[in-house]
Amino acid sequence: MGRPPAAAGSGARRTRCPRCGSRVLRQLVGRRAALDVTADAGELTAAAAEALRHPNRLHWCLRQTRDGPDMRWADCRRRLDPCPHPHVIDHECTGPPPAPAQSSRSRSHRSTPVPDGQLTL
Ligand SMILES: [Zn+2]
Repeated sequence: MGRPPAAAGSGARRTRCPRCGSRVLRQLVGRRAALDVTADAGELTAAAAEALRHPNRLHWCLRQTRDGPDMRWADCRRRLDPCPHPHVIDHECTGPPPAPAQSSRSRSHRSTPVPDGQLTL
């Protein structure tokens, strides 16, 4: 591994989901705390993407740059006029889940709830 992964802002890579084989776009989106985004490669209008959005499924404003597609935070959602750029939405994988690792055993040990705020970052 000589090269670090592409830095944020360097554009999206067209690839395939290793689990379900769908065409997806992958990119680190964001300037400071970059998010590792895997989005469906199918392009939607901003309105259609917004309709599919929910708190765990964001959509992204897809810009064509000199260097290829580039996903941005969909800040355009806050505007009144519709965004002219295509949008892509987070990939929801329909592939088989990874092999379960003894989930039944760990579940039975959960007798004490973790109090809120115990985790300090
Ligand atoms: Zn998938």
